[in-house]
Amino acid sequence: MRNIIFIAPPAAGKGTISDLLVKSYNYEHISTGDLLREEIKKSSDLGKKLDEIIKQGKLVNDEFMINLMENKLNSLDTNKSFILDGFPRTLEQAKKLDEMLVSNKVTNNLVVYLNISLEEALKRVMGRVICPNCKRSYNLNNEELKPKVDNICDDCKVGLEHRSDDNEETFKTRFQNYLENTSPILDYYKDKRILISIDAMDTLDNIIAEIKIEAEK
Ligand code: AMP
Repeated sequence: MRNIIFIAPPAAGKGTISDLLVKSYNYEHISTGDLLREEIKKSSDLGKKLDEIIKQGKLVNDEFMINLMENKLNSLDTNKSFILDGFPRTLEQAKKLDEMLVSNKVTNNLVVYLNISLEEALKRVMGRVICPNCKRSYNLNNEELKPKVDNICDDCKVGLEHRSDDNEETFKTRFQNYLENTSPILDYYKDKRILISIDAMDTLDNIIAEIKIEAEK
């Protein structure tokens, strides 16, 4: 399977789709948001600084994120395909990622753009809860994505939590950041002819089937 790089507005479903792809095709899932939230949980000085940035809906600076991604890619099992969920988020990150992939001899990549409107993404963000243990994402406003028991993770049986940045005000800043900093990356990948566009409002089964066809090419 080709490696998958997701480009999407906040709450378009990157995490949920990644989890399904991991289960079916044994991908390595690299979520930069999860990596940052793990650091925040440690309450380290770095974690406190990251928490402030994320709570405000701002982007963490490129130098820090590129360094984080470089370390992660260098430690990967090279026999396994991977999913990048949350990186790159700027053109600078996209260009550096290319250099990292070339130097790690990683060539077979697919960029998946998940297309969703601000209104739909906002609805999703207001219903989103995550498992603090396995990081699985649920949605209380979506029958397909509700936990079996209210507010309890189906797999870990622990209480689900809201993310500190999942509120209307922060969401709007995140969406604006996406439009200004992340959406220009789409043209960059279109020129490289490795971009596909998926309707994030389609059913999860259809989305996975579409991605599978492209990822097997
Ligand atoms: P996510 O879980 O992907 O929604 O990411 C949560 C937050 O982490 C984002 O709103 C950013 O503040 C930060 N973040 C995650 N990935 C990146 C990145 N590649 N560049 C800058 N900030 C990031």
